[in-house]
Amino acid sequence: MTDPRRQLSRRVYPLRVLGMGLGGLVVGTVLWEQRAGWGPWAWMALVSFIWPHVAYQFSRLSGEPYRAEIRNLLLDSALVTALVPLMHFNLLPSVLLITLTVVDKITTGIRGLWLRSLPGMAVGMLAGGALTGFEWAPTTSMPVIIACLPVMALHTVSVSVASYRLIRQVSRQNQLLDELRRIDALTGLYGRGHWQEQAEAALRLHHATGEPACLVMLDIDHFKQINDLHGHTVGDEAIRALAHIVRSNVRTTDCAGRYGGDEFAIVLRGMHMDKALAVAQRICEQVQAMRLHDMPELQFTSSLGVAAADHRHSSLRAWTDAADAELYQAKASGRNRVSATDVPPLAPVV
Ligand code: GH3
Ligand code: MG
Repeated sequence: MTDPRRQLSRRVYPLRVLGMGLGGLVVGTVLWEQRAGWGPWAWMALVSFIWPHVAYQFSRLSGEPYRAEIRNLLLDSALVTALVPLMHFNLLPSVLLITLTVVDKITTGIRGLWLRSLPGMAVGMLAGGALTGFEWAPTTSMPVIIACLPVMALHTVSVSVASYRLIRQVSRQNQLLDELRRIDALTGLYGRGHWQEQAEAALRLHHATGEPACLVMLDIDHFKQINDLHGHTVGDEAIRALAHIVRSNVRTTDCAGRYGGDEFAIVLRGMHMDKALAVAQRICEQVQAMRLHDMPELQFTSSLGVAAADHRHSSLRAWTDAADAELYQAKASGRNRVSATDVPPLAPVV
């Protein structure tokens, strides 16, 4: 059973047995001090020691265990609140039982459940009061205070453990979400958003320290035809194979991403144009030699544009525009080639 909704009753069962049992210890101490008759004792025994098992059977045998468990939780509140008048409103245990029953509803995480439990609690209070004539003896003795301690401590610890687990789970899921946001599913390279963040950081570093960086934009030639002639599955296979080539030609300090459909972008950190050109040229040659496992006769080429970061690139947009212009140039002059910006002019003297 993996549905958490179906697991609710299983999760609640041991907690209800323990919580109600310890609550019974508290109520029993008050009843013993009051020299209560068999009626309140029987009610306390029913709620504390029999109800948890009956509730579990209700949800276990129900065709809709989740709904049955919600009903049980609402009944919990009514049954527990009825104990308050039975204790003649003994202050500490009364406040404790009411608080815990509300907290239990809140910690289920079910929206508004605690609010839905209030009418049942009012009915429980009135029913208990009708039985005892609303007798009033709020003073709490030391033995009753001591009897309250186990349920207080245990409840606090169990709620803390539950929220600790929840926080851990949320942080694990956030990590996963972040990973999904950063990584392109088809290629395993960075997705566009994360690539842009990294590229901006490299450009800022260049402006701040003069550290060189080159931007390579790559686009597969006539890729639409490949899709149209051989289908998208083959197209996807080619994109994956090309990503593999890109990855194997960059260092871990570089930043390679899938910029768009058949377009890739690479920031080569700390690299001058001559070395960047060599990397781009190597990728271009390897794409030409690339073969797909299932269609070895199919050939691919790519066009690449390279732009070194310089003072004219006030934003990432300006830098990518420069590399894009070179890519366009490579396409226009026949494809399957690398085109690069000229050596940038010196920064103007201020
Ligand atoms: P050019 O040489 O001018 O680049 O020609 P092209 O046909 O490659 O033109 P363009 O780059 O504009 O076409 C990109 C094509 O890439 C269009 C679309 O069918 C295809 N494409 C985009 N994303 C994907 C993808 O995730 N999988 C597959 N199989 N194809 C994609
Ligand atoms: Mg293309």
